[in-house]
Formats: sequence, structure tokens, C-alpha cells
Amino acid sequence: MLRRQTIGIVGIGQVGMAAAYAIFQQRIAQELILIDRDRERAEGEAMDLMHAQGYVGRRRVRAGDYPDLKQAQVVIICAGVGQKPGESRLDLLNRNASIFKIIAEQLDEHVPEALLLIATNPVDILTYVMQELSQRPNQRIIGTGTMLDTTRFRTLLAEYYNVDPRSVHALILGEHGDTEVPIWSTVSIAGASLVKNDVLGEGFEREAMENIFERVRRAAYDIIDRKGYTNWAIGLVIAHLLRTTLDDQNSVLPVSVRLDGEYGINDVCLSIPAAVGIEGVTKRVLPSINDEELAGLRHSAEVLKESLAGIRLG
Ligand code: NAD
Repeated sequence: MLRRQTIGIVGIGQVGMAAAYAIFQQRIAQELILIDRDRERAEGEAMDLMHAQGYVGRRRVRAGDYPDLKQAQVVIICAGVGQKPGESRLDLLNRNASIFKIIAEQLDEHVPEALLLIATNPVDILTYVMQELSQRPNQRIIGTGTMLDTTRFRTLLAEYYNVDPRSVHALILGEHGDTEVPIWSTVSIAGASLVKNDVLGEGFEREAMENIFERVRRAAYDIIDRKGYTNWAIGLVIAHLLRTTLDDQNSVLPVSVRLDGEYGINDVCLSIPAAVGIEGVTKRVLPSINDEELAGLRHSAEVLKESLAGIRLG
């Protein structure tokens, strides 16, 4: 018998709802359970989305609490708090880590087997924190990492070369944040390498390419300056990650995983290409990268480790 696919989302704000909308509209799961500390808001969102069944077909969307997640195969975590005026990054981090402590306890009690997909920022740090707090294996706790940055990168490169972004193979790895690393040495369009000046007969225009990466790196700031948050693209990222998981696709995606010697890096979560399926992260795929890119990844790891050192988990 086909098992009903039930998905939980914890944190029904802009990101949680953009993910819920994408999952619902793409018919990825039969049942969505929305959990937020503001129960009324979750109820309102569930009612609103439910009413579109006339277009997407029979699906359940309901507000709930942790015991309702019993049947969930995957739980998506987008719960978080914003920075208070005058608050340091580290204080904010510690407040989000305390929220994660409560969430981890609840999830371990009620859905110990579910895969956890983490989107809350700083996503690499909080993926590591959840791995420390939860009893489930680390391979079952995955951060969205640089998936968002990577789709931004592919989109802007595609715009430049005037091709379909899905035909552009490009990766941003490392931290989801300021130290992220564009992996120029692997960028290709249909196998034609960018750095080898192969693409559409055009040379590698260093300045134009650096400008593209800078726009990717600054994208969150630029969007937040204008609308106050980012949600649509990350919603689709989460839906894609969920689909590859539930369908056991083992798609290789730049997700945040705990490194164990890859590129000489240990004991920190950051994005490298990893195969994601129903068991979580099964394989890591390590493209050859140049010395500058390697140094960039190691720098990302150092910066993340400094933040981790300031976290209180007790
Ligand atoms: P938001 O403020 O709109 O939503 C956060 C929600 O979390 C709120 O509804 C709040 O009530 C809820 N919440 C807080 N504490 C909770 C708890 N203990 N239990 C349950 N719910 C709780 O914020 P948002 O814009 O949706 O962003 C959410 C997170 O996603 C932020 O950390 C943001 O930085 C991050 N984000 C990540 C990416 C990415 O690429 N990973 C992209 C965009 C945003």
C-alpha cells in the first residue's frame, strides 16, 4: 500500500509559508502539518491554503503541535527570531540555538525517525547545533546550505549567456553567507567549461563574472533592503530538496552537511555537493577545485568554527 506522505513545517513565517505553498502547489506531499508558536497564525495559514484544493486536488493542510508529527517522514525547520536592536550576532545565535533545543527535544520525542531539513539562519551553524542536540544520525539532518546561492548563481550566469538556467552547471559552496565560494573551475554549460573559454565562443570575462558573483553574495541584503525578508526562492529550494528526499532521487545538491576530512576540513557543517535521498545524505561528491577555491572553503570553515565556539548548548 502506498504510504501517505506527511510533512511537518516548524516556523510558519515568510519562509515556512513559501515552502508550504510550493509543496502544496507541486503536490509533493499528501499532508502538511504547520507548527508555529503563534498557533492562530498557523491555523489561518492552513485554512487559507486548504481552500485551494479545488485546483490542486485532495490534500490535507492543518495546524498542529509536535505530537501530530508522528507520521511525518520529513520535518522542515524555518522557525527563528530576528535580531533585536543592539543585539549582537552571537546573542541572536544563542537565542536561535535555545529555540532549536526545544524543537530538538520535541522532535526526538515524537518523530525520532524523520529527516530534518533546516532552513533557519545561520543555517550552517544551526544544522550543526541540531546535529548536536538531536539523537538521530547526522546524515538525517540536512541544511539547505548554498542551494539558494547556487540557484541565484545559475540564474545570473544564464541571464548573461542567454541560456536556460537549468543548462548551467555551477556551484557555490562553503558557508551560506559572506564567505561563500564560487567554484569557477567547474562551471559549464552543456559540458563547455567557462574558465577554459569554451562557452559559446566567448572568453572568460573576469570582471563580468566577479560582478555576477558579487550580486549573488549580496542578494539577500539587496532583497531584504527592499522587501524586508526573502522567501520565494528559498521556498522553491525547500520544495526541491523535499522532493529529492521523498522520491529517493539521490540528487547531488550543495547542502550543508558535517564535514569529515573532505577538502581537509573536519567537524563543521558547510555546503559541499552531496547525494540526498530518503536516508538523508548518502554520498558526498567532491569535484576537483583549484587552490584559491580550496583556500576559500577552508576560510569558510574557520569563520563558522569561530561562531560555533561562542554557542552555549547547555
Ligand atoms: P519570520 O519571522 O517570518 O518567521 C519565523 C517564524 O518562526 C515565526 O512565525 C515565529 O512565530 C516562528 N517561531 C519562532 N520561535 C518558534 C518556536 N520556538 N517554535 C515554533 N515557531 C517559532 O522569518 P522568516 O522570514 O520566515 O525566516 C525564517 C528563517 O529562515 C530565518 O532564520 C531566516 O534568516 C531564514 N532564511 C533562510 C534562508 C536560507 O537560504 N537558508 C533564506 C531565507 C531566510
